[in-house]
Amino acid sequence: MFNKILIANRGEIACRVAATARRMGVKSVAVYSDADASAKHVAACDQAVHIGASPPRESYLRWERILEAAKATGAQAVHPGYGFLSENEAFAQACAAAGLVFIGPPPSAIKAMGLKAESKQLMERAGVPLVPGYHGANQEPALLQAEADRIGYPVLIKASAGGGGKGMRAVDKAQDFAAALASCKREATSSFGDDAVLIEKYVQRPRHIEIQVFGDTHGNYVYLFERDCSVQRRHQKVLEEAPAPGMTPAMRAEMGAAAVAAARAVNYVGAGTVEFIVEQRSDGSMQFFFMEMNTRLQVEHPVTEAITGLDLVEWQLRVACGEPLPLQQDQLRITGHAIEARICAENPDNNFLPATGRLLVYRKPQASSFERSHGGGKVRIDDGVGEGDAISPFYDSMVAKLIVHGDDRAQALARLDDALAQVRIVGLNTNVQFLRYVVRSPSFAQANLDTALIPREQAVLFGQEPVGLVLAAAASVAQTLLDERALEGADPFTRRDGWRAFGVAERRFGFEFGGVTQDARLTYQHDGELHLAVGDAAGVLVFALTGSGIDLQFDGQRHTVFVHRQGETAHVFTAHGATRILAIDLLAHAGDHQAEAGRLTAPMPGKVLSFAVKAGDTVRRGQALAVMEAMKMEHTIAAPSDGTVGELLFAPGDQVSEGAELLKLVG
Ligand code: ADP
Ligand code: ADP
Ligand code: MG
Repeated sequence: MFNKILIANRGEIACRVAATARRMGVKSVAVYSDADASAKHVAACDQAVHIGASPPRESYLRWERILEAAKATGAQAVHPGYGFLSENEAFAQACAAAGLVFIGPPPSAIKAMGLKAESKQLMERAGVPLVPGYHGANQEPALLQAEADRIGYPVLIKASAGGGGKGMRAVDKAQDFAAALASCKREATSSFGDDAVLIEKYVQRPRHIEIQVFGDTHGNYVYLFERDCSVQRRHQKVLEEAPAPGMTPAMRAEMGAAAVAAARAVNYVGAGTVEFIVEQRSDGSMQFFFMEMNTRLQVEHPVTEAITGLDLVEWQLRVACGEPLPLQQDQLRITGHAIEARICAENPDNNFLPATGRLLVYRKPQASSFERSHGGGKVRIDDGVGEGDAISPFYDSMVAKLIVHGDDRAQALARLDDALAQVRIVGLNTNVQFLRYVVRSPSFAQANLDTALIPREQAVLFGQEPVGLVLAAAASVAQTLLDERALEGADPFTRRDGWRAFGVAERRFGFEFGGVTQDARLTYQHDGELHLAVGDAAGVLVFALTGSGIDLQFDGQRHTVFVHRQGETAHVFTAHGATRILAIDLLAHAGDHQAEAGRLTAPMPGKVLSFAVKAGDTVRRGQALAVMEAMKMEHTIAAPSDGTVGELLFAPGDQVSEGAELLKLVG
């Protein structure tokens, strides 16, 4: 086995590889960019080498620097992870030339599978079934149009050099072909520096089912079963599971044999994935076609690890050392069912636009590693970030992968929903709530899987509000009181929570929820009971801090909630989901916060919509000063005290970061 390897990647996959290396007694070397100087993957390795500035082109793609780092640290091999240099033939070659083992397939296999069109020609010769289409070298627009007409619409134009869901255009009718072709070629040139395309029949309601294969240097091949990755957005995977629902042993064996034939055809070595598109016929039968081969470890490999009890990175290292495959085909078994959810920094309600920001709060479920425990573990989290880390615009928007394992699909599904409910992220938008909606959608729950699942279920996936105003407000009030008690102790004379020796004390709160403002009234009774009136609800509010959050009773219901404050925004997490509510504690503003009265800051990153005042205006406490749009919600910024408006520091339409001072108020 190697003594030391260099991991030419970052984030969760670098951490993932480092964990196996450590377990096997192999030392690991991290490389990192400026942005990653204190990243988790740097700490996960035994050594680390700085390789350049934050943009990938100046660091993670600079392979001369990476090879120098390997030489300087005495690493014997390089693990490329996925993305970056993992499918770069020249890099694999350069490793060999530098006397380093590239932990991956031979350069010739990367090349053969690198271009979708060429690889399809190869697969055709190897007898692997292909989607009807055109993958020739002639790229004359007229010929491509004629081929599309012959295949029959709808068709899919794909950049031959494409990847990551980019460079694809679906075309519904002949008249639209020329324009789609031109636009696809433009994107292919700018993204991949190669404008060659291929054309495929657009399979209706297809499933994406891929086969994990492994080869060694002794000519042995196995397949580690399938993964169903049909749940996609923008042709990118959202949820992946194994085994594929509805897969029969006969079809599995057939697809496995086709995948092994594909690997054998290019003398493949190491971990690879053969992706198939599966057409579901009206008679219930399924027909599979080769789509592409990814010549690396895949993002979703943990679901395969979960159902086989194997560590695929360990297999990669062993095979790269020249060892034979640890197991043969008849020794491989499927146990239970596994699902992976990709937690990404993005806005599902805004066409999945990637989001950036800092993980101010990042809490996750208790994990029990099941890499080698064969069904023993239940929840696994692979990530490359910790609380306080930033999701920067330089790299992928994936925050973490959550993988669950159960005896069957129903159990895995329940565990996934439960695990997702325990993920609490504050500071940036994520798809966590969206993932929960997908998991609970009728299609996913009934394993009615295909790549159109998300658009089909859009009514239950988008624009939902999982927590109502009343619960959000009650949770926020409870958190405010808990914070104050923690701060001020239990001494009744310093407590500000309304305790009075005589009479009933009252306290008012202002909330903004879903663009609507709402007052709440909290009254303290002689007997110590708290009464809360908010919206349509009024009654006794009871709460207590427990080990698992705030145990809250209000409005005839009992909930366990968590509240994290970010400025005046309370992020409320409940069993059903999370929401945000803007809490304006009027009493607190009148009292303690006087010192802050001069500064009016954005409670979260967003856009300034309008100012309700101008410089020189006299305002009263509580008067609206400005309106911001953040996280798809409008927020009114109100005056915390009486005063005169000084200067407006932004203009309507300006993008502002959290904490940015919006205007000055002179007391
Ligand atoms: P998988 O099937 O493993 O999810 P993807 O095609 O989604 O494979 O790619 C895996 C990772 O590789 C992505 O998260 C992305 O970071 C990176 N990647 C893939 N293709 C590209 C590309 N063309 N340009 C940049 N990054 C890419
Ligand atoms: P990438 O290299 O970007 O991963 P793929 O060729 O693997 O590109 O295709 C990505 C996704 O696009 C597939 O998982 C599938 O959802 C969809 N897709 C690809 N080919 C077809 C097709 N012929 N018909 C319908 N959908 C397709
Ligand atoms: Mg693909």
